[in-house]
This record gives sequence, structure tokens and C-alpha cells, in this order.
Amino acid sequence: MAYRTVNPYNNEVVKEYPFATEDELQSALATGHDLYEMMKKQDISERAKILHNVASKLREHSDELARACTIDMGKLIGESKGEVELVAIIADWFADHGEDLLKPEKIDTIATGDAEIQHHATGVVMMVEPWNFPYYQIMRVFAPNFMVGNPMILKHAANTPTSAKMFADVVAEAGAPKGSLTNLFLSYDQVTEAIDDPRVQGVALTGSERGGTAVAGAAGKALKKNTMELGGMDPFVVLGDANMDDVNDIAWRARIYNTGQVCTSSKRFIVMDNVYDEFVENLKKKFAGLKPGDPMDPKTTLAPMNTEKSKNKLQKQLDDAIAAGAKVVYGNEPIDLPGQFFMPTILTDIDKDNPAYSEEMFGPIAAVYKVHSEQEAIDLANDNPYGLGGIVFAGDADHGAEVASQIETGMVFVNNFMSTLPELPFGGVKLSGYGREMSHIGQMAFVNEQLIVKTDKPNMGNLAGGLVALDPQE
Ligand code: NAP
Repeated sequence: MAYRTVNPYNNEVVKEYPFATEDELQSALATGHDLYEMMKKQDISERAKILHNVASKLREHSDELARACTIDMGKLIGESKGEVELVAIIADWFADHGEDLLKPEKIDTIATGDAEIQHHATGVVMMVEPWNFPYYQIMRVFAPNFMVGNPMILKHAANTPTSAKMFADVVAEAGAPKGSLTNLFLSYDQVTEAIDDPRVQGVALTGSERGGTAVAGAAGKALKKNTMELGGMDPFVVLGDANMDDVNDIAWRARIYNTGQVCTSSKRFIVMDNVYDEFVENLKKKFAGLKPGDPMDPKTTLAPMNTEKSKNKLQKQLDDAIAAGAKVVYGNEPIDLPGQFFMPTILTDIDKDNPAYSEEMFGPIAAVYKVHSEQEAIDLANDNPYGLGGIVFAGDADHGAEVASQIETGMVFVNNFMSTLPELPFGGVKLSGYGREMSHIGQMAFVNEQLIVKTDKPNMGNLAGGLVALDPQE
């Protein structure tokens, strides 16, 4: 592993970055801890102002940030610009709502006195982030933790170092005090070293099961609270009475957006038999209409994958799926361009013992299943090790929501593309991880929910039923 920007469109090595030194790590921990002590005494409204300023600076530098993201990991320039705007929206939302969300909460109790929960910072948070949304993944942790007063150390993916550095530079330029977000090009061992350090009190990872197991293992060993945002094989369920114009308009986008490299991409299309043929025909047409090319060109509609390694891994998974009996109804042909392009592919006839049935394929491959009843659709959606998101298309949205609530995932959208916004909690169950980012839930991920009960005078009577010291004469 080395921190390098390699443009996946033309394979040019753009920039290499040296690993962080031990001194840099120690200095980040010390600066972070000092800042934690300082921010305990700071008025939260000061941080809200700085976070709004982060949003403004992100918008001001939107073009440079978007270009850096596209060069780092290949996504279409329009998608990169959209990502920068989304992170600015997230920063503004937490700046506007963080103070209210973190206000003390009164508790109605029979205990003597007034009880409330206060929300305090806990210390430095170590965040480990993936390349697929180089800015958005950082902001999901940065905005709520900056508001609460937890300084952060960022270890970003080895292939998006330029985006990581630029994000941290924008935060500094916006006036955030040193240590608010320290980007370090850490080795895996240094990540473990940071997690072991007593000044680090929270660990957030977004990534694969492999990365998650390693980092959650280190956090568990050091007894550090952690959140895990891992992979997904989200179902896209099409019921027999769904509006097929809407389905056909959304399905290909739900798989191809970001070249299919999204945790919540629809990876399994579960389609009722009466609309199955129409669905497959339309998906083929949409995939065939995509134009591979330079992701900087706004006319390009199919971007390269993020690295050669990811492309090779996906091709191996596809070959294994075919060897195990899956049928290719579209795709699986080379694209005659030097970059890491992968032809969108549609697979059917995937049996339960095929590895493609339960392995996440992180690229533009759609697995399509035909089902004969709603119950079969729900059972198939749930027969999976992951539980991140999902989409249900139904003629009646209320009925779609009834089906959605039987799907064992953290998020389901009915009759629409899955979207992410700061007020909506993001996260999953099963191998997709635990904890939630964004929203009021994400705001509390690394907060000490401290109970304070106060009274002017003790009154044992009101503690009846609680844990009370017995009177020594009794
Ligand atoms: P990954 O290999 O787990 O990498 C994610 C991050 O973890 C990178 O910064 C990586 O660093 C680091 N990492 C990996 N192993 C580590 C270790 N032993 N110690 C310390 N750090 C380690 O994930 P990926 O395959 O690149 O990313 C795609 C995955 O992320 C997919 O499974 C996708 O579904 C998931 N994802 C989930 C969400 C969500 O919110 N649930 C969102 C986006 C993506 P290096 O780059 O240096 O290896």
C-alpha cells in the first residue's frame, strides 16, 4: 500500500505522498487532545460559525475539489461537483442544527430533583475512510464531531490522498483550529497505534468487511467505541403493479451511478414475473446507451473504475459467477480504452450456491432475479449476509412501505432512487455494520451522554425502589 494519485482514466501517476512519521502521529494526537480540552470551554456557536465557513469554502473551491476527486478515483466530473455541493449541505445542516441537538435533555423521573442528560465531547476520533466518495465520507464524521468538540485524525484510502489533503486544507482555510481535522498518510499499524492511544476515544470506519474487521478488532481490543459503515448488496424490489416507466428510469441509475461503486448501489434486482422481461429489456437498452470516455468530459456517461486492482477483482468475481452457472444477458466485453473501464453487465440465473449470490460486486454488474410472489421477493431480499439499504417499487406507496419494513436493512426507499441527506440517518445491520452516521443519531455517535441529577436537599423517600443505602440502625 502506498498513498498515490493514479488517474484511472489514463493510468498516469500524478502524485505520490510519503507515509506519516511517528512524530507526525504523536504531534497530531497531542494537538488533538489539547484542542479537545480547549473546545470543552468554547461556546458551540463559535464552531457553528466555522462549520458554515467550511461550507462556503467548499463551494468557493468546488471546481478544484471536483477535479481532484475525478483525477483521484475517476468519477464523472458532474458527480464530483454534486458531491462537493452535498458535503457543503451537510456542513450547513450540522452548523444549523448541532447546537439544538446537543442541548441538555430533561428526564421525567421519580428521583429527587431535576434530571437531565448533557452531551459532552469525549476526545479525539480516529476516522478511516474509503475512496468511493472522497469528500462525503469525511464530512459524515467531521460535521457532527466538530460541532460536539471532538478533534479528528483522518486516515483516507491510499488511492485518494489528494482529495484527503485538499479537504483538510479547506477546513483549515475556513478557520478551524489546528487539530480539528488532521489528515495523515498512516500505515495500518499506525492506525492501530492511534486507536490504542488513550487520547483517542472514538473510531469510525467506512469500508469493506476486511477493513472493518481489522479496525473494529483493534477498537474492540482497546475498548474504544466504534461505528462501522460497511458493504451492501442492496435489493431493488419491483412489485407486479409498479409503474414501469419510473422503474425503467431509475433502475439503471441505481446501479451505474459512480460506476456502480456505491455501498447502497442496487446490486440485486428482484423482479416480479409479470414485469421481468420488460425490466431486463429496458436495463439492457439503458446499459447499451452509456458512453465510456474521459470523466472530465460532461458528455461521458460511463466513467472508469477507481483502480486497476478493483477492476481485476470485479472481473474475477464475474468469471467465477459465470463458471458457477450465471448467465450473461448483456455485457462482459472489453472496452477499448486504456483506462480502468468495465462494461456494464447483467447477470441472471444466479443460484444460491453461486458466490455471486452473497458476495458484494463493487462495480457495474446487475444481478437480476425473477420471483413469483411478494413473499418470495421479501425472502430473497433478506437471504443475504448484508443489510444496508434497498428500494421497493410498488403501485401503492403505502403498500410498498409495508413491504419495505419487512426488509432487513437499515434504509429503504419506496418508489425512488436512494438519496442521502444530512437529516436522514445512514447505516445498516448484519455485515453492513452498526451505528448510524448523519442526522440526530449520527450527531450522538461519539458523545458522552452524561446524566446529571440535582436537588437542593437530599430526600431518601423519593428514591424508593432505587438503589438506596440502608439506614445503619435498621
Ligand atoms: P477497504 O479496503 O475496507 O478500505 C476502506 C478504508 O479502510 C481505507 O482507508 C483503507 O486503507 C482502510 N483499511 C483497510 N484495511 C485496514 C486495516 N487493516 N487497518 C487500517 N485501515 C485499513 O474498503 P474498500 O474496498 O476500499 O471500499 C469499498 C467498500 O466500502 C465497499 O464494501 C463498500 O460497500 C463500502 N462502503 C460502505 C459505505 C457505508 O456507508 N456503509 C459507504 C461507502 C463504501 P487503504 O486504502 O490504505 O487500504
